[in-house]
Amino acid sequence: MKEFDVVIIGAGPGGLTAALYASRANLSVMILDRGIYGGQMNNTAEIENYPGFDSILGPDLSEKMYNSSTRFGAEFGYGTVESVEDKGDVKIIHTDDGDYQAKVLIIATGSEYKKIGVPGEEELSGRGVSYCAVCDGAFFKDQDVAVIGGGDSAVEEGIYLTQLAKSVTIIHRRDQLRAQKVLQDRAFKNDKIKFVWNADVEEIVSEDDKVAGVRYKDKVTGEEHVVPAKGAFIYVGIQPMTEPFKDLGILDENGWIDTDTHMRTNKPGIYAIGDVRKKDLRQVAIAVGEGGIAGQEAFNYIQTLSDKVDAK
Ligand code: NAP
Repeated sequence: MKEFDVVIIGAGPGGLTAALYASRANLSVMILDRGIYGGQMNNTAEIENYPGFDSILGPDLSEKMYNSSTRFGAEFGYGTVESVEDKGDVKIIHTDDGDYQAKVLIIATGSEYKKIGVPGEEELSGRGVSYCAVCDGAFFKDQDVAVIGGGDSAVEEGIYLTQLAKSVTIIHRRDQLRAQKVLQDRAFKNDKIKFVWNADVEEIVSEDDKVAGVRYKDKVTGEEHVVPAKGAFIYVGIQPMTEPFKDLGILDENGWIDTDTHMRTNKPGIYAIGDVRKKDLRQVAIAVGEGGIAGQEAFNYIQTLSDKVDAK
């Protein structure tokens, strides 16, 4: 079993910042992730609300944060975490590539895009259905694409897709967007973006095993229509990635992790940061702040463990 002061699960902006703070405080730190560092930043074309940069590509910011986070000795390891045992002063992290022991566990696993659950979505995944415009947008150069959803992701990714596609139709279930005003304004001004309002998506339609359009019912008129599209990008919200932690007693009824302002869960020595936390605003800058708090809190908590040993 590999032993560390701190194990951080998830190498997005929160996890990487926690690693920087904890390792700079001279703690031994392992950051575990099942994929490349950077988390959701890798699926984001341009980040323009992270201080210090007018605009920066998500993968570039990931690289810079990774380099900072490992400067003071934090290690990065690949592995899928399967479960965690809380043994009081020690946490055991079981992965598909062996076990880790830590005094502090920081959960920074983030969230993932929800499925819409209509016929065609699963069958056509990778054949025109996508949850990542940055990854797949280039396949739809000069073609018509549809985006489903009305939040920040749908509108931001819709705008991104206009750089590649011939047209982008945003299909939303209400007559008002949920996205931030600045993104709405930008989308309304973009000639390549069309909107379909009050639309209940019923099916992703196919032709020759590839996406050919999105069928929806107009909630006002009851009529059915198909928006012709070669790509269907689905952005209907997010859900937490907390399956390995379901037995720890730290999840709410929807799977999110509640913490106090010190990023402490209800279990001593277990912290949660970033998009996996129960909160309203999920942003890179906020995950970074929470990572800094958790990294410092890890140091404080480990001091209390040493004080306990000294007192014996
Ligand atoms: P979101 O804010 O939850 O929006 C989901 C959208 O999908 C809503 O418009 C919702 O409609 C619609 N929707 C939900 N279920 C649906 C269904 N079954 N069928 C059709 N439409 C459905 O999710 P998000 O846009 O992925 O954003 C997630 C979080 O990340 C948010 O906190 C967001 O602010 C943040 N984010 C921020 C940025 C940025 O700051 N640049 C960029 C991306 C994401 P209703 O409006 O009717 O509920």
